[in-house]
Amino acid sequence: MSRQQPTEPYPRQPYRADIDARHDIAIANCEDCGDEFDLANTDPRTRVCAPCWDRSLEAIEIAFLDNYARFGAKAHRTVAEALFRSQALADPDDRKVIGMRIVEEYLNAAQDLMALYVALRRRHEQPLLTTFTNFELSAPSVAAFRILTAGRTSDELLRDLQLPTLADVDAARDDIPRKEWRQFAGAVLAISNGIERVQKVDQGVLLELADGLKQSTALTHKMDWLPERAMNPDQVALVVLNQRRRVLLTHSLAVHEPQLEVFIDAIDKITAAARDLIWLYLHVRDTVALEDPQPGRS
Ligand SMILES: [Zn+2]
Repeated sequence: MSRQQPTEPYPRQPYRADIDARHDIAIANCEDCGDEFDLANTDPRTRVCAPCWDRSLEAIEIAFLDNYARFGAKAHRTVAEALFRSQALADPDDRKVIGMRIVEEYLNAAQDLMALYVALRRRHEQPLLTTFTNFELSAPSVAAFRILTAGRTSDELLRDLQLPTLADVDAARDDIPRKEWRQFAGAVLAISNGIERVQKVDQGVLLELADGLKQSTALTHKMDWLPERAMNPDQVALVVLNQRRRVLLTHSLAVHEPQLEVFIDAIDKITAAARDLIWLYLHVRDTVALEDPQPGRS
């Protein structure tokens, strides 16, 4: 009896180079304005020109931010707190997995707040949504953020974002309802607190972890199976195989309860800062729109 050849479960498709090749027709007509636009650097299914696309993003900016402030920003805190509560009932190994996921939520929240800051700062150059959704936590982006924000007072941060500072609002204190002044002062404090917590991401191990998480989700609770590696009993590690460098990287992290409490507190401060930064920006937009009732851009 001849041995049956094992069939390949996922037969390989021949690579079709023409999918990625440039197209013969590189010009299309925009569905919104009718103008011709170049398809060269876009997906061939693109239907609108770049200016129309930017305008459509600007049109949903307020609604997006309002929704994000109410839901998306808070989501990181909701998940992290639920994980933290579930830790109490988990066994020691599961606690490590949960701990790592809490740190991931810290990284996600930090990325969002940095993205929001940079997007607001660049809002006159490109749609806020474009910067916000394309922002990626990486060594260069974190270093750039640090240069923008480290050692700055809250008023300097707000001035950098072209938003009213506490000094501006203090100067107009007699004209502003007391409740609104207090809300403003609270928001300013929350923003600088959150930014301070985000800067902690600029510690090698967290950045390497953020980078590693893009490539791997494989966790380990001990390293005795790896030559010349060791970790403490309260640590968990991410295992990343870097094929190009032919190295196996491990990023270990302490996930004991006091450490996780620090992360939970940071997530709380960071999400509050995102919410208040959006509140402040939308409030300023509303005020400017009231003062300047010109048609067009609001
Ligand atoms: Zn167009």
